[in-house]
Amino acid sequence: MSIEVRNIHKQFGSFTALNDVSLKFPDGKLTALLGPSGCGKTTLLRIIAGLEHPDAGEVLLDNENAVARHVRERQVGFVFQHYALFKHMSVFENIAFGLRVKPRKQRLPDSAIRERVTRLLELVQLDWIAERKPSALSGGQRQRIALARALAVEPRVLLLDEPFGALDAQVRKELRRWLRRLHDELNVTSIFVTHDQEEALELADEIVVMNHGQVEQTGAPAAVYNHPATPFVYGFLGHVNLFHGRLQNGVLQTGDIRLEAPGHDLRADNEQGTAYVRPHDIDIERYSPDAQGIVVQLERFHAIGPLAQLELKRKDTNEVIEVVISAERFSQLKLKPLDTLVARPRELHIFPATQAA
Ligand code: ATP
Repeated sequence: MSIEVRNIHKQFGSFTALNDVSLKFPDGKLTALLGPSGCGKTTLLRIIAGLEHPDAGEVLLDNENAVARHVRERQVGFVFQHYALFKHMSVFENIAFGLRVKPRKQRLPDSAIRERVTRLLELVQLDWIAERKPSALSGGQRQRIALARALAVEPRVLLLDEPFGALDAQVRKELRRWLRRLHDELNVTSIFVTHDQEEALELADEIVVMNHGQVEQTGAPAAVYNHPATPFVYGFLGHVNLFHGRLQNGVLQTGDIRLEAPGHDLRADNEQGTAYVRPHDIDIERYSPDAQGIVVQLERFHAIGPLAQLELKRKDTNEVIEVVISAERFSQLKLKPLDTLVARPRELHIFPATQAA
């Protein structure tokens, strides 16, 4: 089922939780709503589900306005961070619950319910714990059961609100991959809320980045990561170094150096600007008088595993730059603290200061 929201507005007292949000969620895809705490992700999910009413705007399910439709009629499955399974029921009965409480006319015969629950238990790879009570499950197992329970009624849309938020990092990673595989098998249009950029980048087909009740950018993970549309998205989707300066003729004068920004549409001439540069988009070499770039001093480094993280202090402005290089390059350079180096941004994006975070 395709989902579309148009011009959604939601106010809690004087606080604007959602401000004119319009989005299309592609049919059969997994979309992440990503943003910092309080940006309105959960509110938007609840409006799509029908658990919350927008003050203005439309929710279209398969091109049909669903605002007046009750949550039960929307055929939505939910999984929340702390999804309370029924404690007194076995795992099997928890999954069967939604099927058993259907009105008699729509209810499947008991044998069909048993068959469907068994299939779902296999799907979430937990058929061996069907008879256990939820208290005898790990957090990750509980979330998989919560997902099986949501899927039991064959929802046309699956909404997941920080489904792995309460779990530890290792389990989260495993469940992420597992959910991705499961989604590839089922292709139910799904929206999941997360504030974890890594989770969104790894799991989603599409990402919607939100901030202060508004959409900042939408797109495929690689597009959003590689081409952030706003300073906020740059900062939110990973570490970034800022080089403040003055723009003139496609060149940013920052401290003692000039950074070329070819291909950037710098309409504004002679105005304050900020270059955004990812830590892995900076080359470094040992200092020599004719080396081109920003002269820095190595303050600290962290070199465990395939990458080395360096903290460098600019000699001209004393600002700190974070740089990531390969462990191989790191050992080639034979670096030690307080070494003088030259840093050269390879990829940068300049935003006028009026726009910068
Ligand atoms: P988090 O990741 O922390 O859950 P979120 O992006 O999901 O954040 P929402 O839960 O949508 O954010 O909340 C958006 C804002 O609206 C928050 O500032 C929140 O305090 C406020 N809010 C949400 N529900 C209500 C409510 N029922 N009454 C008043 N304010 C609310």
